[in-house]
Amino acid sequence: MAIRQTKQKRVILGVLEKAGRPMSPQEILSSAQQDVPLLSLATVYRVIRGLEADGTIVPVSIPGESARYETHLKAAHHHHHFHCERCSRVFDVPGCGLRVDAHLPGGYRITRHEVMLYGSCIECAATS
Ligand SMILES: [Zn+2]
Ligand SMILES: [Zn+2]
Repeated sequence: MAIRQTKQKRVILGVLEKAGRPMSPQEILSSAQQDVPLLSLATVYRVIRGLEADGTIVPVSIPGESARYETHLKAAHHHHHFHCERCSRVFDVPGCGLRVDAHLPGGYRITRHEVMLYGSCIECAATS
């Protein structure tokens, strides 16, 4: 049983690392089933909860949608995200050029920010 859980964790982490973009539990399932055909969505959620609890992966939340997940390693380098409104995939946007404190009232102090850009990804833009 312990061995199976370790393999499931390894497969799901491998999926996230290979994809190079944040993925939803459903996307993780579809991709992981190529290696573990009998994997269920319930198991993916359980493994995700474990990986999130030990800090290996981090959720990327989108209002009204299921969270996407990225590795802690990726999240540790500040970056932004792009949500394709047509295929619903989320991509990484490297770096940050934002002057986030430009319009902040005096006395307020920012500790962190998250940015989600919306539009069409390169594949969807090409088919419009
Ligand atoms: Zn797209
Ligand atoms: Zn930023």
